[in-house]
Amino acid sequence: MEGAGGGNSLPSTSGADAVKRRVSYFYDPDVGNYYYGLGHPMKPHRIRMTHSLLEKYGLLDRMKVIHPQLARDRDLCAFHTDDYVAFLQSAKPETLTNPCVARRFNITDDCPVFYRLFEFCQTYTGASVDAAKELNRCNADIVINWSGGLHHAKRSEASGFCYVNDIVLAILKLLENHDVSPLLVPSLLSSSFHRSFCVSVFHSLLLICSFLICLQRVLYVDIDIHHGDGVEEAFLTTDRVMTVSFHKFGEYFPGTGHILDNGYGKGKYYAVNVPLNDGIDDESYHYLFKPIIAKVMEVFNPDAVVLQCGADSLSGDRLGCFNLSVKGHAECVRYLRSFNVPLMLLGGGGYTLRNVARCWCYEVYWSLHVEVNDKMPDHEYLGYYGPDYNIHVATSNMENKNSRKSLDDIKAKILDNL
Ligand SMILES: [Zn+2]
Repeated sequence: MEGAGGGNSLPSTSGADAVKRRVSYFYDPDVGNYYYGLGHPMKPHRIRMTHSLLEKYGLLDRMKVIHPQLARDRDLCAFHTDDYVAFLQSAKPETLTNPCVARRFNITDDCPVFYRLFEFCQTYTGASVDAAKELNRCNADIVINWSGGLHHAKRSEASGFCYVNDIVLAILKLLENHDVSPLLVPSLLSSSFHRSFCVSVFHSLLLICSFLICLQRVLYVDIDIHHGDGVEEAFLTTDRVMTVSFHKFGEYFPGTGHILDNGYGKGKYYAVNVPLNDGIDDESYHYLFKPIIAKVMEVFNPDAVVLQCGADSLSGDRLGCFNLSVKGHAECVRYLRSFNVPLMLLGGGGYTLRNVARCWCYEVYWSLHVEVNDKMPDHEYLGYYGPDYNIHVATSNMENKNSRKSLDDIKAKILDNL
């Protein structure tokens, strides 16, 4: 799996991979209690299963575990429209009787109004925004929020099980990086005697800082099986955010993400779409992922990377059709980590719960770079992982419909655009 396009090889103990990273993990114990409804494939319970596994593996002791704040409605309005946020805030299953309102905000069977929907949005979004603040303050090298990554939500409508786009809000927070100014205040204004002089110095520094802040670039990478349409759309016309999405394309939700869609105006060539076909395996995936990401890192040179780790690209997913192993999926985390740029890991799709928990737990292992014990520890959800009770998932013998020629064509086209 290693080699193509740079980075450091997996077993290395001397490369950049071997360097320890400070990892902050954001988890609200309430998140597993939310319920989309009977038969709905999206189950927040998987976040609790992942957490339980992390705890029993002893990984929580190796990270800073942070209980995030709930996002406030005005935080959500940094991207979403006021009327949409007001709707989410007031929506209750028993009071949603007007079909026009439901249509306007795309409330459907995929995106139902369920009990405490707004609190759910506040919970997963608060964790992503707090994770961004943690990176802005340089308190961590890697931040993780498995409850986030809801990449389909639009500015004023729900889509694909997503209501609030926590990723867009987290990226806006990273770009804003306004935590620089509070750091300056106490030292400059501590003496009342020099206050007026200090205020003018402070304002000059703020101007310099805002100039520096304007240079900041964020890279967004999406390895969910579905196209990261909500994030791409939000940053389509800017050159400060590059979005790179690897996804199934062709008669598949949400239908966007054509290779020729690559941004508009100032954002031209800052959206990258890698369309894939059914049955892609680890080798084929990384035949594209590594050279493309290596080139993106070289030409875009981001100050921070946000990786949406949707686990519906794993083999055997209830809604997916790819054939990635947990190792192949986590190789994306390892590879991005090797560039030693501040990294945010978010969740996303993933509908075979036991595999989601396996994958995200293994990706925490890779974030920490500690030895992995494949055998699952005894814990309350152990029954989900039988009969093998192993952290890995066996891939299937499904056909890989991505020919070497099609992969070469995609790679050439994208590298050419970059
Ligand atoms: Zn998905």
